[in-house]
Amino acid sequence: MQYRAYGSTDMMVSALGFGAMRLPHHEDGTCNYDKAVPLLRRGIELGINFIDSAWGYLRGTSEVAVGMAIKGYDREKIYLSTKAPVDTEGQAKADNWWKMLEECLKRLDTDRIDFMHFHNIAWDRFKNWVAVPGGALEAAYRALDQGIIRHLCFSSHDTPENIRKLIDTGEFSGMLVQYNLLDRTNEEVIVYAHSKGMGVEVMGPVGGGRLGVPSPEIQRMIPEGIKSTPEIALRFVLANPNVSVALSGMNEIRQIEENVATASREEPLSPEELAQIRAALDQMQCLAELYCTGCEYCMPCPNGVDVPENFRLMNYHRIYGLTEYARREYAKLGQRKDPQGELRPAWAAACKECGRCESKCPQNIPIIEQLKEVHETLREAG
Ligand code: SF4
Ligand code: SF4
Repeated sequence: MQYRAYGSTDMMVSALGFGAMRLPHHEDGTCNYDKAVPLLRRGIELGINFIDSAWGYLRGTSEVAVGMAIKGYDREKIYLSTKAPVDTEGQAKADNWWKMLEECLKRLDTDRIDFMHFHNIAWDRFKNWVAVPGGALEAAYRALDQGIIRHLCFSSHDTPENIRKLIDTGEFSGMLVQYNLLDRTNEEVIVYAHSKGMGVEVMGPVGGGRLGVPSPEIQRMIPEGIKSTPEIALRFVLANPNVSVALSGMNEIRQIEENVATASREEPLSPEELAQIRAALDQMQCLAELYCTGCEYCMPCPNGVDVPENFRLMNYHRIYGLTEYARREYAKLGQRKDPQGELRPAWAAACKECGRCESKCPQNIPIIEQLKEVHETLREAG
């Protein structure tokens, strides 16, 4: 296993972190401890020392599983990371956040959390709810003072511009953001965070499952020695020297062992391989945008069709070769529920050919015709 410095802290974390969000679970969504704990322990035995959970994962039972799994190991050698939400103004109050923090400690059965995150924070929430008198930041300061948390971090799906604002507050030792072969939106902000001495945790190194399925197009990017699409996806993330730890939500022994082997390579990708992949990705991105930039000017459709989403899935098939994933997701578009719980399919087949969208598309895409093609191509799994 390779170990990397977590920003300017004195902690060396395993390049592969164990994301505890997809642990084996029962039908009611709670963790199956009998299956989950041995998996976590196998990861630890293979050198993983960074385990990431959250208040909400598996209805609160993910943290319990992590607490059970680390029993018997030297606590000094394992870094526990978790997150508590600030999704509402109430949750972001200091008292409430403190209570959640106490509950996290109880579930993890520990007296300190090494990396505590504001979960999925947006700049507006931080500014208006968290960093105000009586807000959760005050509770975090108190916990830092008392040694209950060692480092304050955040996770975010906000825009790179807003993530940069969060970094510039200087309040955080680290951050957790999305970054993978298919989504390099945060690449610059990752460089920026690293330059500021922050640790960088990456979620979704295999694209939230999208890259977990075979893609000949992606595997072809490095002709030599690539066994699978997940392998190249993880190697790509680990080849970024600004990344401290790539979190993978693992739920099978085989997957853990394969990922550990990948994260144990001294050089995840050679400079030539990386250059080759980047060139291929740039080309793929250009091709994807030729079809549809995702600008959404064509929306909303009076019949509920999510035009850009249909085209995005089609691009996964025709450009990235992720056909299996595209078909699976397309089937779900056919079952989409509106906020009232009514089934309102958003897939291409729901198009009534009214033509209202076509004149709004700056790319002049023949939307009606292309939607037919989408349905023809992706419907098989539906
Ligand atoms: S042509 Fe089809 S996709 Fe476009 S607005 Fe009409 S129903 Fe919606
Ligand atoms: S307007 Fe055209 S380019 Fe923009 S999302 Fe719709 S189809 Fe895609």
